[in-house]
Amino acid sequence: MTDFYSTLGVEKNASDADIKRAYRKKAQESHPDKNQGDKDAERKFKEVQEAYEVLSDKQKRSQYDQFGSVSGQGGGGAYYQGAAGFDPSQFGGFADIFESFFGEGGGFGFGGGKSRKKTGPIRGQDIETRIKIKFEEAVFGVTKYLEITKPEQCDPCKGTGAEPGSAIKTCDQCKGQGQVRSTRQTILGAISSVHLCPQCQGRGEIPDQICKKCNGQTRVKQSGEVSVQIPKGIEDGTTIKLKGKGAAGVLGGEYGDLYLEIRVAEHPKFFREEKTIFSSESIPLVQATLGATIKVDTIHGKETVKVPAGTQDGTVLTIKGKGAPSLKSEALGDHKVTIHLKVPEKLSRKERELYEQLAAEGGIEVSKGGFNLF
Ligand SMILES: [Zn+2]
Ligand SMILES: [Zn+2]
Repeated sequence: MTDFYSTLGVEKNASDADIKRAYRKKAQESHPDKNQGDKDAERKFKEVQEAYEVLSDKQKRSQYDQFGSVSGQGGGGAYYQGAAGFDPSQFGGFADIFESFFGEGGGFGFGGGKSRKKTGPIRGQDIETRIKIKFEEAVFGVTKYLEITKPEQCDPCKGTGAEPGSAIKTCDQCKGQGQVRSTRQTILGAISSVHLCPQCQGRGEIPDQICKKCNGQTRVKQSGEVSVQIPKGIEDGTTIKLKGKGAAGVLGGEYGDLYLEIRVAEHPKFFREEKTIFSSESIPLVQATLGATIKVDTIHGKETVKVPAGTQDGTVLTIKGKGAPSLKSEALGDHKVTIHLKVPEKLSRKERELYEQLAAEGGIEVSKGGFNLF
């Protein structure tokens, strides 16, 4: 599908007046009266009409901006459109599908909406959803089961839209031609054009009775479980594409895809940046001063870490190979622990004496007695 804005030669933010002006100009240039027998001009003229029809209509324009197609334009999938009992809001287009299936569900939306043929098999819509997993699950990988509600092929009619056993008859609207001619009044006069038959969508035939279950829509909304293997090392915000797990196609069209956005929950102790996992530990002042061996929590369990004598507050120590893998490589990154120093808040009498001796030894002036809580 050509872009309607470029067809008219206007910017995406063009005003209604700009669009009207551009339309007049383009339509005059390619008008059939001026270009007798010029197939290219004829096609161009039709495109201009189509673009103007959408962009001059506030509602259609905003739908087009959002979804790249418009109800009834992109062939939302209704085969027996116009047949008795047809509910145009059920499968009319992207906006309609969005509302009727997932409007209240939250977190769902549809992508796609690109050019589609109006006849023959129509690919099912892509579906987007997201899932929140634990920090550990992102590091080690996990299998998740999602409950997804989406359009599936109607079972009783096997996706034909015809009531089982129903006879198939020639479409009465187009007399089996699949096309209808219509005349429209435009600002340039009456324009006669050939359209796809709205009743049979160009097939030339319709069932005598439409399927009661799906109302001729060929698909019905169904809930089902989808299992997803989330690979280890996945990062927050990554989207996984599950091919063929989207909406069922129409009239033998293939399934759409399911796009799953992965959100990773925060961890109370760890923070991750790609393959590196960060944490912090507070150690007593004496350990930092004299040096010590301490236990540090990593995502893989407790690790023994040597704190050198004279370690300063804020020093970062690296534990090799105790971080996370990435989607590209199984090799684990590092764990980095930031050392903080704990200054004692309360001292025993003995400890206080020792600290005072330490101060005297270093010739450092300190408050004597008095301030001690004991
Ligand atoms: Zn027809
Ligand atoms: Zn059916």
